[in-house]
Amino acid sequence: MKKRLRIANFLKRVAREVKPLIRILQIINLINQIMEHLDLSIIRDFFTVKWVNHIAIAGATCAVWKPELVPLAVLGSTAPDWLEWVLQAMGRRVRHRTVTHYAASWLFGLGFGVFVWDYHHALTAFAAGGLSHVFCDSLTVQGVPLGWWSDRRFHLFGGRFRTGQSGEYWFSGAIVLACMARRKDSYVSG
Ligand SMILES: [Zn+2]
Repeated sequence: MKKRLRIANFLKRVAREVKPLIRILQIINLINQIMEHLDLSIIRDFFTVKWVNHIAIAGATCAVWKPELVPLAVLGSTAPDWLEWVLQAMGRRVRHRTVTHYAASWLFGLGFGVFVWDYHHALTAFAAGGLSHVFCDSLTVQGVPLGWWSDRRFHLFGGRFRTGQSGEYWFSGAIVLACMARRKDSYVSG
């Protein structure tokens, strides 16, 4: 009996926290639609669903593990894209979703941080963020390259997502929810 009450209370609390989240997603979606209409592709890329979802997924997952590292994870989760701008600013020609999106390099960075050397888990958080970005991109039709040795792109789960479509919201929303639930769990038990 008591347990059922606790679950009901928990669900109520989750619902309360989800409401503002949904509101934010709606606003972003609206901005996205306006941008699409105006065809301001540069600004739209910045606001695009993609980035929002990358940030939401990495931020929420990291908050379960180490809340203080969320900024680094978020920075890492957008790095594969902004590193392209950095390289371009340095005068290198980069095609989208190539060098900065190698799954192998982010995996290597993560392995290095976990097993070899790290500074207060900073590298781990950053690389895990980057890896989550590559992972999410691999769910889309365009896919990502595994590494420098091949131009072939790999897709996870058939690459069914299309960048900017509602599937992305659902996917990242589900992850954020799962992470929130885990954090509540740890509050209760801890
Ligand atoms: Zn990307």
